[in-house]
Amino acid sequence: MTARRREELATGLARVEARIALAARDAGRDPADVTLVVVTKTFPASDVQILAELGVRHVGESRHPEARDKHDAAPMGLVWHFVGAVQRNKAAAIAGYADVVHSVDRARLVDPLSRGAADADRVVRCLVQVNLDPVESGGRAGCAPAEVGELADLVAAADHLELGGVMAIAPLGLDPAPTFDRLAAIATQLRATYPSAVMLSAGMSGDLEAAVAAGATHVRVGRAVLGERPSGG
Ligand SMILES: *Cc1c(COP(=O)(O)O)cnc(C)c1O
Repeated sequence: MTARRREELATGLARVEARIALAARDAGRDPADVTLVVVTKTFPASDVQILAELGVRHVGESRHPEARDKHDAAPMGLVWHFVGAVQRNKAAAIAGYADVVHSVDRARLVDPLSRGAADADRVVRCLVQVNLDPVESGGRAGCAPAEVGELADLVAAADHLELGGVMAIAPLGLDPAPTFDRLAAIATQLRATYPSAVMLSAGMSGDLEAAVAAGATHVRVGRAVLGERPSGG
């Protein structure tokens, strides 16, 4: 059972790493400049263990407390990325274990994230999530492009947070390239003020090539490594 799962994950991982390498070469980029975050949400802690043994260093989760429970059960030395919507009343707890929060999309999250990081005596790197959907889709996470600067200022000013860059999810069913290009332009603009905000988190199982072409530094990939999620997730 475990041996078969290890085989599946090794195969998925090799395939995704090859896709990243090819996309990077096509874009004239060094594949080493693209970090693969394997999104393990809904999959068991045993998969995280196997992935760590296969050399994965960056894992992503999208729900608390599932994320915390897997973090606590996992081997040391992994970098934990929280990529899902952050509820305000869970923000402090998330900052207690997440190394990077990709989904800071409103001002009200900044204080509780910083307080949670302070309580755990750590610094959490935060990305501003931008909603780049061409039409208002309702309920989609992310701040408006015009709000990025202000939110970035708040994160950068928070004692226990560090501004890492920006994140977006491409709109469902549309060509992702224009969205990722817009995100890259926003990232460039942000770096004029905050040179260390170098992270550009974009690209998932279905669109990682377009994200790498646009300059993604971090791709967040679940299904292409782990298989289909049991319950939609
Ligand atoms: C689930 C999730 C991913 C991974 O999606 P896949 O299609 O499984 O690759 C990436 N980013 C976010 C924010 C997610 O919630």
